[in-house]
Amino acid sequence: MMVNFEKQAARMGTDIRYGLATKVDFSVRPFKVEIDEEKWIEADSVIISTGASAKWLGLESEQRLNGFGVSACAVCDGFFFRGKEVAIVGAGDTAAEEALYLSKLCTTVHMVVRRDQMRASKVMQDRVLNAPNIKVYWNSVTDEILGANKVEAVRLLNTATQEKTEIPVSGFFVAIGHEPNSGIFKEFIDMDETGYIQTIPGTSKTNVEGVFAAGDVQDKNYRQAVTAAGSGCMAALDAERYLTAKGLA
Ligand SMILES: Cc1cc2nc3c(=O)[nH]c(=O)nc-3n(C[C@H](O)[C@H](O)[C@H](O)COP(=O)(O)OP(=O)(O)OC[C@H]3O[C@@H](n4cnc5c(N)ncnc54)[C@H](O)[C@@H]3O)c2cc1C
Repeated sequence: MMVNFEKQAARMGTDIRYGLATKVDFSVRPFKVEIDEEKWIEADSVIISTGASAKWLGLESEQRLNGFGVSACAVCDGFFFRGKEVAIVGAGDTAAEEALYLSKLCTTVHMVVRRDQMRASKVMQDRVLNAPNIKVYWNSVTDEILGANKVEAVRLLNTATQEKTEIPVSGFFVAIGHEPNSGIFKEFIDMDETGYIQTIPGTSKTNVEGVFAAGDVQDKNYRQAVTAAGSGCMAALDAERYLTAKGLA
C-alpha cells in the first residue's frame, strides 16, 4: 500500500529524495535543512513529520521477536492475541490504558511494574487493580522474552527477592513511552516538556510561520496511522495556502 502511495505522489509531481535531516535553520528565509550532515537544501515551507519512536527495554530477544509477538502498540496489535495470555511492561497512564484495552481481548494480562507502585493516575490504577484478569507483578523487570520464532513465555525477575518466574504468554507489549523525533528542531520550534511539537489547535501551524507539523511528532494522544495521515493532509493544505498567500507557489 505504501509503495502505491509513493508511486501516486511521484505521479502527481512530488520530487522524492532520500536522506536524514540532521540540522535545520529556521531563522532565515528560505529555510535551510541539512541532509546527512553534508549538504544543505532550501525550502520556502517545511512540514515536519518525523514521528515518535517507541522506547524499548533493550533486550536482544525483544528486538529479535519484534513483530513476532513483541509490540509497542496494544491498540494496534492487541487483536492478534484475542483469547490468549499476554504480558505488558509499564506503569504510566498509557500502560494502564493499554493493559485495560488488552484485558477486554485476552484471557489474562500480566502487567510488569518496576517499582512497588505505579506512575499512572489514581483513577487508572484503580481500574487496573480492579480488573479481574490483570495480574500485576510489583518490583519486577523483564529478564528475557522466550521463544525461538515467536513469543512463547516471559521470564521476570523480582528485584526485591531476586526470584525468577516464567510465565507462558503469546504476546509481549512494551508500554514505557515514546520519544518524539524532534531534537533537531528544538532551537526554533515550540514543544511541550516531553518534546512533542506544539501546533496551533485545529491547524498544523507551528510558532514559525511557514513551518508546519503533522503526525506523531505533534500528537502524543492518538498516535495512529489514520490520524497521522489526516494531519498530514492538513499540513499539505496549510503549506499550500501559505505559499500561495506569499506568492511563492
Ligand atoms: C508496532 C506498531 C504497530 C502499529 N500499528 C498500527 C495500526 O495497526 N494502525 C494504525 O493506525 N496505527 C498503527 N501504528 C501507529 C502508526 O504506525 C503511527 O501512528 C504512524 O506511523 C505515524 O506516522 P508519522 O508519519 O507521524 O510517523 P512515522 O510513520 O514514524 O514516520 C516518520 C518517518 O520520519 C523519518 N524520520 C525521523 N527523523 C527523521 C529525520 N531527522 N530526517 C529524515 N527522516 C526522519 C522516520 O525514519 C520515519 O520514516 C502502529 C505503531 C507501532 C509502533
